Amino acid sequence: MFLPQVVKSARVMKKAVAYLIPFIEAEKKPGDAERSNGKVVMATVKGDVHDIGKNIVGVVLQCNNYDVVDLGVMVPAQKILDAAKAEGADVIGLSGLITPSLDEMVTLASEMERQGFEIPLLIGGATTSRAHTAVKVAQKYSGPVIWVKDASRSVPVVAALLSDEQRPALLAETEAEYATLRERHAARQDTRSLLPIARAREAATPIDWTGYVPPRPRMLLQQAKDVCDGPACTLGTATQFVRHFHDYPLAELRDYIDWQPFFNAWEMRGRFPDILHNPTTGEAARRLYEDAQAMLDRIVEEKWLRASGVFGLFPAAQVAGDDIEVYTDESRTEVRTVLHQLRQQTEGRDGSPRKSLADFVAPRETGLRDHVGAFAVTAGLGSAERVQAFKKEHDDYNAIMLEALADRLAEAFAERLHERVRREFWGYAADEHLDNEALIAEKYAGIRPAPGYPACPEHTEKQTIWELLDVEAHTGIQLTESMAMWPGAAVSGLYFSHPQSQYFVLGRVGRDQVEDYARRKGWTVDEAERWLSPNLGYRTEDE
Ligand code: SAH
Repeated sequence: MFLPQVVKSARVMKKAVAYLIPFIEAEKKPGDAERSNGKVVMATVKGDVHDIGKNIVGVVLQCNNYDVVDLGVMVPAQKILDAAKAEGADVIGLSGLITPSLDEMVTLASEMERQGFEIPLLIGGATTSRAHTAVKVAQKYSGPVIWVKDASRSVPVVAALLSDEQRPALLAETEAEYATLRERHAARQDTRSLLPIARAREAATPIDWTGYVPPRPRMLLQQAKDVCDGPACTLGTATQFVRHFHDYPLAELRDYIDWQPFFNAWEMRGRFPDILHNPTTGEAARRLYEDAQAMLDRIVEEKWLRASGVFGLFPAAQVAGDDIEVYTDESRTEVRTVLHQLRQQTEGRDGSPRKSLADFVAPRETGLRDHVGAFAVTAGLGSAERVQAFKKEHDDYNAIMLEALADRLAEAFAERLHERVRREFWGYAADEHLDNEALIAEKYAGIRPAPGYPACPEHTEKQTIWELLDVEAHTGIQLTESMAMWPGAAVSGLYFSHPQSQYFVLGRVGRDQVEDYARRKGWTVDEAERWLSPNLGYRTEDE
């Protein structure tokens, strides 16, 4: 059976159990065996809102007769540990989507050690990895720590952990594997060579600015009412530079959905749309897709979700030290805010450029009038309440489906808004006509990098976007202390128009760049090391 079928069938089972429990309890005699295989306390860690994967794991475990206590999202470490004690948990499971959650997991592991826990700790979620679990988490806790790749792995792992026969082999195997990963990690850190940041800057993306004419945003040349004549005439004007949308038409966004990540979320392997016709997966995939379409019909018609978004296009220039200055107006005399960027520092192959997103905005000394954009969108308003209602009905399938579709609609909104920015608001690609496949394949000019992603992995830059666009007031999207967006079905980022702008992976950074970044951000070096921890190319003192 594929996961969607398992989750779908869980409802019948759960309803039956809910119905039978009073009878079972009434019949129970002292000393009767417990009906459950074991108890798992699960949570998404403090500051993070990742839910879908964890919810699927929860349902799959329940289907295999484990008791699951799901504490939800943004759960502080001590609350997880208290619940584990109070519930007499056999296993704790942690989930996280964004990199700051990795540190939170390390903290929790240390606390488990300090508070004398012995039960296994499971680590899962998009940002986690076997290597991080081996190198950082498992080192802090002497009990078993195991990385679980996906929901389908969770059952065999928990079963083995709770079985006296299977446990020793699993633990020995894991320990051997983690020891190898730790050795490999230690060896790599010593040999990796990093350029001094000054040299990396000299090797910046070669862009010839002579003769380049930065496209002037059309919306800054026109009155708002002229721009607002499209199908989605919900356009508001906050300032000259900022526009926002309330209740963006979901019917329009639906056509922009990228279905591949939807099938990934349900752990259905294979390429969309081939997956629908594959002899093994086809039937399950088609059912899932049909269910998704039927729910989308209702989401649109009955307004189950609301989409809000905001974006801005601002006068900007690159200044020395990988920063992008954003100005209050076209006179470019007053700096409104600074977008801090990082630069690749690992030695490039054959002298290939060491990129920074700052490279893609015209340097101040060129005198060119370039611009940069920022945006934040959500399609998750109203989602939490309805997801709760489904859960109350033991309907995990539809609860997870709705969360997955809200995510898809948020990404679709980001795609659609970016298209409108290129064609209408910035207007540098007014003649662009790309179908959805071409949009997903990023066949357009310009990029929309998102803080927390490989070119700009430092999450606090979202805060700058929030201030610049007044995101919370315009859209209702909040930032948690770890810089996760709430509702989770949200996307934010920057817009670059230069034809040579491209995504890249920052990779490891050296102490010189971290110190420089700390200075630019007004942070201590400790703070900078904490936010940049997944990218540090050197050992910090506490390692
Ligand atoms: N069609 C996908 C889009 C999301 S993934 C979906 O529906 O899920 C692609 C997005 O991730 C990009 O638009 C960009 O915002 C971000 N991204 C990808 N690679 C990046 C990188 N190297 N640096 C920064 N952002 C990146």
